[in-house]
Formats: sequence, C-alpha cells, structure tokens
Amino acid sequence: MIRESASTVVLTGAGVSVPSGIPDFRTPGTGLWEKVDPFEVAHIDAFHSDTARFWRYWSPRFHELGSKEPNAAHRAIAELEERGLVDAVVTQNIDRLHRAAGSQRVIEVHGTIETSSCTACGESVGIDDVETLFGDGEIAVCPACGGKVKPDVVLFGEMLPEAAMEDATALCEQADLIVCVGSSLEVYPVAGLPSVALNRGARLAIVTKGPTPYDRDATVKLGGDVVDELRAILTAL
Ligand code: ZN
Repeated sequence: MIRESASTVVLTGAGVSVPSGIPDFRTPGTGLWEKVDPFEVAHIDAFHSDTARFWRYWSPRFHELGSKEPNAAHRAIAELEERGLVDAVVTQNIDRLHRAAGSQRVIEVHGTIETSSCTACGESVGIDDVETLFGDGEIAVCPACGGKVKPDVVLFGEMLPEAAMEDATALCEQADLIVCVGSSLEVYPVAGLPSVALNRGARLAIVTKGPTPYDRDATVKLGGDVVDELRAILTAL
C-alpha cells in the first residue's frame, strides 16, 4: 500500500513513544494522570489561577520528558520520509521525538515541550532556557515584557493550534494512504482525520495495539509491538 500510494501521511499517538519509556496516560496504573486530577494541573484555568503550582508540577515532568530518546519506530517513520515514501507526520505527542529521530515535516497538533511562549507578547523560549526565566520566583517570567510564560503544549480548555490543524486536514484531504501508528483514534479532532481521508477515497492502515473506532474501515490492521511492526514494514519495502 505504501508503494502504491503517491501521498502517504503518518498519524501517530502515545503508543509510538511507549518504547521510549513514556507511558500512555490512558493506560491504567501507569498513567501520568493517575494520581492527580488533570483539570487541576493541566487546565488553562489552573495555569492562570495558580501559575506557581502549575510550574512546580510540570517542570520536573517536562525535564523527564525532555531526556527521552526516540525509538526504532520513530526512526522507521523518519526513514520512510527520507526514502520519499511518507509526506508528513501528524502527531498528538508533545515529546518532540519525531523531530529528534529525523522526521522533517512534523505537525504537532497538541503542541510541543520544545518551546514556551509569553502569554502577553508571544516571545518564544527554548526548553533549555525556560528555567533561567524563573529567577528567584516560582513562575517563568517573560524577559521582554514581564508576562507569564506558558509551555507550548495544548492544555485542557485550550483550542488546538489552528494552523497545525489546517495543515493536518489539508494533508489528509490529498493523501492516498493514512498510516495510523500507536493511536487509539479516540481523541478529537485528530480522531476525525482518518475520516477526512477515507471520504476522499484514501486507504487506511492501522498499527496500534487494541481496538480503534476505525478498525472496520482499515485495509490493514497490525496489532503487534509498534517497533516490530514498523521494522517489518521497512524490511518489506
Ligand atoms: Zn512577553
């Protein structure tokens, strides 16, 4: 299917980063959200009402996330792009591991930990520099205007970045093939992207453990380990 397709888009979710040691937050017992109400710490209202608490909670977690390395599944997807077999990766992940693996065209629809931005003037700061903005205080303060700095990840209660969703939708509209990797395809609006492609006659391949709402629409469903499955795909090509 990849060989026959003139335009292939890969859509990824948490499952592609699990082999990098990043748990899927929906997996019971291992999840990031297990011990805490996400709305208390990951909602945009929580950021504004208690910014110090927000950063206290998230700084060590972003640090840990920032130390993770891409795995063979990320690298396989990057290699497919390098070989001209994949046009772009649309990802729900904020861990920046697709870029670290070498993927060039990556659309991060839930944002990324790579940068943080001032909520007042938009000044952007890299992940390695955000700590220098704390000074003696408990919140990251914009060096340009003194405003509050927020990670460029989409929090609960926030809209997805409009430009990223437009890009993702346009890619899916012109794709011949969508390959979903490690996503249960349950979180909208990303979960609607395969429909966009299917309605235009594209085919769908799913490489994900467990069921998805699209299993019956998929031409191929591979339910094994993402690393094994993607290595097998590369070998076959
Ligand atoms: Zn500012």
